[in-house]
Amino acid sequence: MILLGSTGSIGVNTLEIARRFNIKVEALVAGNNIELLKKQIAEFRPCYVCVANKALAEALDHPRVLWGEEGILETIRLARSAIVVNALVGFLGLRPTVTAIAEGKTVALANKESLVAAGAFIDPKHLRPIDSEHFGLWYLLDGRTPKRMVITASGGAFRDVPLEKIADAKLEDALKHPNWSMGTKITVDSATMMNKLFELLEARWLYGCENVDAIIEPKSVIHALIEFVDGATTAQMAYPDMKLPIAYALMQKIETPVLDPVDLLEVGSLEFRPVSPQRYPIWRIKEDLLANPKRGVVVNAANEVAVGKFVEGALPFGGISKLVLEAYEHFLDADPKSIDEVFAIDEAVRGWCMEKRI
Ligand code: NDP
Repeated sequence: MILLGSTGSIGVNTLEIARRFNIKVEALVAGNNIELLKKQIAEFRPCYVCVANKALAEALDHPRVLWGEEGILETIRLARSAIVVNALVGFLGLRPTVTAIAEGKTVALANKESLVAAGAFIDPKHLRPIDSEHFGLWYLLDGRTPKRMVITASGGAFRDVPLEKIADAKLEDALKHPNWSMGTKITVDSATMMNKLFELLEARWLYGCENVDAIIEPKSVIHALIEFVDGATTAQMAYPDMKLPIAYALMQKIETPVLDPVDLLEVGSLEFRPVSPQRYPIWRIKEDLLANPKRGVVVNAANEVAVGKFVEGALPFGGISKLVLEAYEHFLDADPKSIDEVFAIDEAVRGWCMEKRI
């Protein structure tokens, strides 16, 4: 495989699966975490390595080191593996997804931002989702036609925090996810519920189903449910661990244990709650966004700027949703007709959001 984002949360889990199932790693792409990358190179001996910039590339002792965004694309073109795991974070992952598909490769896609921003221009037959909810939906579908798809949300770090304490919450509090250990951006996206909005779009583009919704299941044991026309509902359960979706994205068929099965007596009880727009203001645009899914590019760009500002301490937590909602209103007419227009709109939204005072 070609692994993009090898030093991140999904990247490290992917290498655990590679180790366990003896999957050859032809290329490792990382950003700045050179120390971890060096260890990965020593263990997996990839033919190609790519890092964020030239200075980092020069710090590596490897015969084929590339760098920067162009380096990522070149790595995808040079390497011969049929599978690209895209575990980069953010819009940076879109060009690699598009390039991998153009090169005839299958993309095991963790980088949900690719689909959120440009799902209309990506053929899902080239994708295998690395997201627990979408893996769950795939597992349940089994070739049948769904009437309605429901994915679950943990509720994130502020699920049980008094409403008046959320708007000024600190980064360290937003990073206290109740169930999952993940990278910074997706953990903040879980706290705002942006991550679930993204996943609804992801489900819509992956499975072509417009009847999608989300509910809160605080234990993250049920990941997805499908209602069928006959009145039956099926649910996919597993302990919260990305290794199962990753293993399936890489191998499709698995006959050996990857996780321990869920012990329902240990789980004891399950609870379900609606997603409240009071607690998660971003939820107010859910219906409109699902009716106009190409506006995902606006939401994604605004969110990346807003989360960046929040992480730097330049925006309060409550400002993330505010900035995204204002950008959504301002770019009301965004309707990209091509992938090039997606890049142009992304740039315009970022510029506007950088200047906007909240
Ligand atoms: P992390 O922040 O943990 O990892 C991101 C990876 O991208 C790191 O390897 C990082 O490198 C690399 N990267 C960042 N910037 C650059 C750059 N300029 N050039 C090259 N590489 C770069 O994120 P996650 O693993 O949590 O998430 C990755 C994607 O998967 C996201 O889209 C997320 O939404 C999605 N996802 C994650 C899940 C999870 O459980 N974590 C679950 C489902 C989906 P470095 O650290 O070396 O700088």
